[in-house]
Amino acid sequence: MSDCIFCKIAAKEIPASVVYEDEKVLAFKDINPAAPVHVLVIPKQHFSSAMDIGEKDADIIAHIFKVCQKLAVDLGIADRGFRIVNNCGQDGGQTVGHIHFHLLGGRNLGWPPG
Ligand code: AMP
Ligand code: ZN
Repeated sequence: MSDCIFCKIAAKEIPASVVYEDEKVLAFKDINPAAPVHVLVIPKQHFSSAMDIGEKDADIIAHIFKVCQKLAVDLGIADRGFRIVNNCGQDGGQTVGHIHFHLLGGRNLGWPPG
C-alpha cells in the first residue's frame, strides 16, 4: 500500500534498523522500545491486521514465528523467555495498519498487559 509506513520500510523507502530480512519477512528494531529487546517482525506483503489473515496465509504466519524463534536465539532471549504480541484494532492498541508482531524480551514483562 502506497501510504503504509511499514510497506515503505519493507521497500527501503524509509530507513529502519533491520535485524533480519528474507524474501517474505523483515524484522527491525522498534523506534520506541518497550523492553531491552523490542523488534517488529512484518510480512513484506501488506495485511492491515490480524483480521486480514486467512487460511491461505498459514505459511507466512508460520514463517514469522520461525523467524521470531531464530531472533530470540540470536538476540539472547530464548532461554529466559520472551513475548510475541500482535495488537489488533483500536482497543488492541494497534497504531500502524500493517500487521506486525512485537518480539519483546530482556526483562520480566509482567502480566496482564495494561
Ligand atoms: P502497534 O501499537 O502495535 O501498532 O505498534 C506499532 C509500533 O511501531 C510501535 O511500537 C512504534 O514504536 C513502532 N514504530 C512506528 N513507526 C516506526 C518506525 N518508523 N520504525 C520503527 N518502529 C516504528
Ligand atoms: Zn503495508
